[in-house]
Amino acid sequence: MSKFTRRDFLKTGVGAGAAAFVPVGLGRAAALTAAADARPRVVSSGNGIRATQKAMEIIKAGGDPLDAVIAGVNIVEDDPDDMSVGYGGLPNEDGVVELDSSVMYGPTHTAGAVAALRNIKNPSKVARLVMERTDHVLLVGEGALKFARAHGFKEEDLLTEKSRAAWLRWKETMSDRDNWFPPKSDNVPEELRSVMSTHGTINCIALDAAGILAGVTTTSGLSWKLSGRVGDSPIIGAGLYVDNEIGAAGSTGRGEANLQTCASFRIVDFMGHGLSPEQACLKTCEAIAVKTKLVPRLCDGEGRPKFGLNFYALNKKGEFGAACLYEGGTYAVHDGVENKLRDAAYLFKRREKIR
Ligand code: ASP
Repeated sequence: MSKFTRRDFLKTGVGAGAAAFVPVGLGRAAALTAAADARPRVVSSGNGIRATQKAMEIIKAGGDPLDAVIAGVNIVEDDPDDMSVGYGGLPNEDGVVELDSSVMYGPTHTAGAVAALRNIKNPSKVARLVMERTDHVLLVGEGALKFARAHGFKEEDLLTEKSRAAWLRWKETMSDRDNWFPPKSDNVPEELRSVMSTHGTINCIALDAAGILAGVTTTSGLSWKLSGRVGDSPIIGAGLYVDNEIGAAGSTGRGEANLQTCASFRIVDFMGHGLSPEQACLKTCEAIAVKTKLVPRLCDGEGRPKFGLNFYALNKKGEFGAACLYEGGTYAVHDGVENKLRDAAYLFKRREKIR
């Protein structure tokens, strides 16, 4: 359970509609008031349809939105078939799975995160403990693992047979100037073909009927990354941001582009200035496309990014939206009545395969 109860939230006056308080640097427009229909909402990336369902069940049963979103993404972290998150996630270049995650809780405006965490399949639970049981926001690598051990998390090998085989295939075929030979037969099993190089993450953000916002992002990050590489997911303001007066945002896709633009913070800031969640996500996609033009190796022949990046947003009124750099993205939404995948807005029509 979260330390911060609904009663505490109402007691602070913030949750009771103290709309005069607008955080410095955010939303000089009036803070948004809670959802008119007072219906809870849960929004997630396209791989999060089970997470939105689970989180909504918890919220409807009176649970806290942070408990809800974490329980939702735990389903995907535990799933060996999702090779972008938690157990079975694709490893780094050394064949070791390193996980990143962050959580943020609106009523207290507190956050916790872990990065490059090995051997623990639910980094989102560890991130939450960083928030609730330390005076820090982010723990990395060995320190994060020591902290998880101190809290009794079980260590396990996160590499599955499938993710090991995918890694070995990558390693053996990467170069003809090293000592690794590719397999004699070039018959790559179909199931490996689709995972040879992937991005992937789950973000899940929620609003309950009392106006409490919370969010989580969790990932195994970019496959075959350098050991110790940290993506956007555990960085507050990049892979996740929540402002209880305005809204929440999160992302999946190329973390490096997000880290250089603080995208989730921007999205929430744009919503605070009156943009709808979808407009805020699209405007952030535009900003990223403009900056990417400064780096030719990341652009296609028409100056468009050669990578994918996706944003999800939910405001205090219960409005939600998502946008991707390229068409074809979906996101999961439970609007309190139905749970379904929706098409995300996009900046560019897809013409070639992107990284
Ligand atoms: N954003 C993640 C990262 O860069 C990966 C992804 O979502 O594809 O670590």
